[in-house]
Amino acid sequence: MSDCLFCKIVAGDIPSSKVYEDESVYAFRDINPMAPVHILVIPKLHLESVNAVNTANSAVLSHIFEVIPQIAKSEGLENGYRVITNCGEDGCQSVKHLHFHLLGGKKLSESLD
Ligand code: 5GP
Ligand code: ZN
Repeated sequence: MSDCLFCKIVAGDIPSSKVYEDESVYAFRDINPMAPVHILVIPKLHLESVNAVNTANSAVLSHIFEVIPQIAKSEGLENGYRVITNCGEDGCQSVKHLHFHLLGGKKLSESLD
């Protein structure tokens, strides 16, 4: 999608600190990290949010969850980590391209709200 920030990052039109890339997934460091490790893992395919997942495109989601433990291991998160996706207005989703926050490198807050 031409007007999407994360599509522009995938295309290389906006620079990012890449940590992983394959044919369908891209991962890069969050510009405003909330933890010592804060990586965004996204499908290259533009999907607006979890709400856009369907049987035709859901294979990329299982692939993302294969990739996440590999990234976590390479980032030294042996003690654990958190994966979050925000959806829509009440979920405080600010970028309308599906992304998973991978957070770790410290003991995270127990609060999820
Ligand atoms: P959301 O609030 O939509 O769940 O998360 C969007 C995330 O994207 C935020 O954590 C924000 O810091 C990050 N972000 C926004 N713009 C950029 C950018 O241009 N580059 C990078 N690396 N991260 C960004
Ligand atoms: Zn996009």
